[in-house]
Amino acid sequence: MMTAYMDHKDLANEVINEDRIKEIADGVHRVLDDIAQAEAASGRETGSVKLLAATKTRDVGEIMAAIDAGVRMIGENRPQEISAKAEGLIRRCAQRGFSLGAAANAQNVNSSGVSQAAPNGHISFHLIGQLQSNKIGKVLPYVDAIESVGSLEEAQKIARRAVVRNIVVGVLLEVNESGEVSKSGCEPEEATDLAYQIAALEGLSLQGLMTVGAHVDDEGTIRAGFAHLRGVRDAVLASGEPGTAECRELSMGMTHDMGYAVAEGSTIVRVGTAIFGERAFV
Ligand SMILES: *Cc1c(COP(=O)(O)O)cnc(C)c1O
Repeated sequence: MMTAYMDHKDLANEVINEDRIKEIADGVHRVLDDIAQAEAASGRETGSVKLLAATKTRDVGEIMAAIDAGVRMIGENRPQEISAKAEGLIRRCAQRGFSLGAAANAQNVNSSGVSQAAPNGHISFHLIGQLQSNKIGKVLPYVDAIESVGSLEEAQKIARRAVVRNIVVGVLLEVNESGEVSKSGCEPEEATDLAYQIAALEGLSLQGLMTVGAHVDDEGTIRAGFAHLRGVRDAVLASGEPGTAECRELSMGMTHDMGYAVAEGSTIVRVGTAIFGERAFV
């Protein structure tokens, strides 16, 4: 069963030992160094690539160790994991002067109803895995963006709930650049038109495009998918179509292909294993 691991790990746990804290901090620093080197190697501006820590199967204590080491963006795959961790994460972030995800909208309103920035800044909270329609209401109070929108129907369902709540939800269009059947996302050929349709929906802000790299060893194949996604982003951003002006992000690159992704223009790399180590369960 997909979520069996939740039965034998307490994802809400907030306290981890010093060795584990150090291991995670070392992982974050290593990945930030790798990103800086990849930016330099491809002639890109320092800081143009953001690190999103992919936190599936990790508990609140492990995630806070990553935040303490410099992570400013986290991504969860499953609504159930968001439910298990959100309260602890929001509280621990607030103790450090950070707001987290969409909860920032509720957290930082002062007594006169004016919204204020958290003193030490904001931690972005993204959903990077599939979202069933009946779980949309569960995640909207917490995430500031959903990266895994692969069809107009999914986008419309999220948009309807956003309008009812009087909020704007960030979305990225997921594209299945590799064509692998195990992967979600729209067909590369339909990505541009779909992006225009999603961008026009009230309640959503189209912030960019996302893909999972091809599961192969061949550098050329992996890079071709990333390069195509960049082409789609460039076309959408230049189109002048309604709602496309913020479509800047390219969420691509994971532990094993982030160097290629940065070379092809990635603005967000989603990294789990290189920060936290191998996952003990899927
Ligand atoms: C798990 C996951 C990642 C991170 O993968 P690693 O290989 O552990 O770095 C990135 N993106 C998505 C959508 C994931 O599910």
